[in-house]
Amino acid sequence: MSQMVLTVEKLARSFGGVQAVKDVSLSVSTGQLRAVIGPNGAGKSTLFNLLTGLMPPSAGRIVFQGKDVTGLPAHTLCRLGLGRTFQINSIFVNATVLENVQLALLSHHRKIWNMSATAGKLYVREAEELLAMLDLVGKAGKLGSTLSYGDRRRLEVVLALACEPQLLLLDEPTAGMSLPDKPGMVALIRKIAREKGVTTILVEHDMDMVFAVADQITVMHQGSVVAEGTPQEIRANARVQEIYLGEEHRA
Ligand code: ADP
Ligand code: MG
Repeated sequence: MSQMVLTVEKLARSFGGVQAVKDVSLSVSTGQLRAVIGPNGAGKSTLFNLLTGLMPPSAGRIVFQGKDVTGLPAHTLCRLGLGRTFQINSIFVNATVLENVQLALLSHHRKIWNMSATAGKLYVREAEELLAMLDLVGKAGKLGSTLSYGDRRRLEVVLALACEPQLLLLDEPTAGMSLPDKPGMVALIRKIAREKGVTTILVEHDMDMVFAVADQITVMHQGSVVAEGTPQEIRANARVQEIYLGEEHRA
């Protein structure tokens, strides 16, 4: 059996009368790129928030690298090797692209950015290595505020890598992106998973995006897992087609 990085057992979360996540179980093996998809309201963001420690589950268990981490806060999970991005832009707009990555590395290594002459020289090589994944090396000296929306979102993903995660969780990485920006994000996610071998869980609404990158897909609907399989299996799944078609008809 391949090594499981993450195992989720019967996870549940309700808000008052609404059961946002019901009995969700899934296992993600080392190096896998797993996508969790589903129409609006399926419970994807709630599942993401449970996995990243933003809120505790009402029931169930989360086992990360053999350790029960259920209910641990986000900063503890981050230290244990669970990296994540935020849906809201979280880069420093008044720092350069290079400085943004340096700051993330300094924070991971728990050093304080004291604006001294030497601080700017710390982790330059590591930061440039991370930036190389982005094809943003030419923009290393640009201020965060001058980046396009697509470049910002890609930079955020690279910032999450600064803490050398064993598992990377991405919440709708292409949300709000224009169509021409999307292939750049798809390419970056592929590089992270395929070249760096980082185990990744991608929560995403866009089916086309998911079919382009995922090894395995988990489909959620009304809080529950309704299907799981390879992109080909999911594409051919009648129940999934019904759910997405139903959504189109409502739209
Ligand atoms: P998705 O990300 O798949 O669109 P969500 O996890 O955001 O789905 O939402 C699942 C369900 O839980 C929805 O019915 C939503 O209204 C409800 N919900 C999510 N977050 C909260 C909250 N903080 N308080 C109350 N209800 C919530
Ligand atoms: Mg959501």
